[in-house]
Amino acid sequence: MANEADILKALENLYGPGGVSLAGKVSGVMLSGAKAYVSLNGDPAKPEGWEAARINAEKAIKSLPGVETAVVTLTAERRAAGSDTAGHDHHRHHHHDHDHGHSHSHNHSHGHDHAPAAAPRQPPRKGMIPALEKIRFVVAVASGKGGVGKSTTAANLALGLAAQNWRVGLLDADIYGPSAPRLFGLNEKPKVVDGKLIPLEAYGIKVMSMGFLIDENVPMVWRGPMVTQALMQMLGEVAWGDLDALVVDMPPGTGDVQLTMAQQAPLAGAVIVSTPQDLALIDARRAVAMFQKVETPILGIIENMSYFMCPHCGGRSEIFAHGGARHDAAQLGVPFLGEAPLDMKIRETSDSGHPVVGAEPDSAQAGVYLNLAAKVKTLLETQKQRAAPKIVMG
Ligand code: ADP
Repeated sequence: MANEADILKALENLYGPGGVSLAGKVSGVMLSGAKAYVSLNGDPAKPEGWEAARINAEKAIKSLPGVETAVVTLTAERRAAGSDTAGHDHHRHHHHDHDHGHSHSHNHSHGHDHAPAAAPRQPPRKGMIPALEKIRFVVAVASGKGGVGKSTTAANLALGLAAQNWRVGLLDADIYGPSAPRLFGLNEKPKVVDGKLIPLEAYGIKVMSMGFLIDENVPMVWRGPMVTQALMQMLGEVAWGDLDALVVDMPPGTGDVQLTMAQQAPLAGAVIVSTPQDLALIDARRAVAMFQKVETPILGIIENMSYFMCPHCGGRSEIFAHGGARHDAAQLGVPFLGEAPLDMKIRETSDSGHPVVGAEPDSAQAGVYLNLAAKVKTLLETQKQRAAPKIVMG
């Protein structure tokens, strides 16, 4: 059974235009069961040569033991951060006729039109919130219940995507317990320009939170009726600008707000955060079912507080029955993205306004999230753009 290292190895002896080894051009690898997703940094100025390299890479990966489907996507290398002159060049992608999560043993090497497409942003469609049209991927981070580390994960994933030269926004949509003010140490009131809220910035990402807008003294019970309206405002009236990804930290649970969100926003996918305890997993299953109901692809499950990293001895302890989320993900047929430890540094940095990926990008703890973010990025880049979600009643 091949693993991610085997995939890289398989690409070592394949070359792209100019004689570069393809292994050195990999920007993300994700192996989910028998399906492999790989994104390669190619040069859009030489689409022909890179297309041949892409097909060779798919063939090589598909021939590895245990791999049935290989989807390799070309993603243009982003220019240095700060340069906005690249226009849409760095958004040039290849669309694949690939229905992630539903098709099996599909040979992607043949019979597909791989002509370079324009920016893969979703075409504007009826009812789509105009403010979201300039966002390539809207990603929901959700959990079945509170306290599992959903916000910590959402923030560090957003920072992890930004570390890979994506332009990223984080929308803290948790009206009951907004966490962005705490996570990023932000308390200012956002400015309004031309009728739009200007998001605050932290560690290079744009941040908007219910917590910036709502008076903390408003009692919780009064917030209920305001939630959907406030969420619509957050989605429609924030000047996000051009973004590669908007990470939405969803309120916990599987109620009205989630449905509104899935109906109104063009969700590219959902990441489910769960702890290893059984109860949390039952809740995670509900969250998975809810997104499946509204036809939002589940990018995968992350197991948070999966194991304990001792700050004194550096030892790893499996406090909870470890591996529950991995097992559950397999049973539910959704990818398992990975696990994050229960770790002192993660807690301290989250609670002091300096999330670990932003404040200590070279730490082992940041590495965990950078790895998870690379997988999310690869899944987004390789999956087919989805049709508008339909709501199934009953
Ligand atoms: P949720 O959004 O699910 O309610 P939070 O992200 O607010 O959860 O996390 C709840 C608490 O757990 C916070 O104090 C946070 O710092 C802490 N926490 C979250 N993930 C971890 C982790 N992997 N290791 C240590 N502490 C964590």
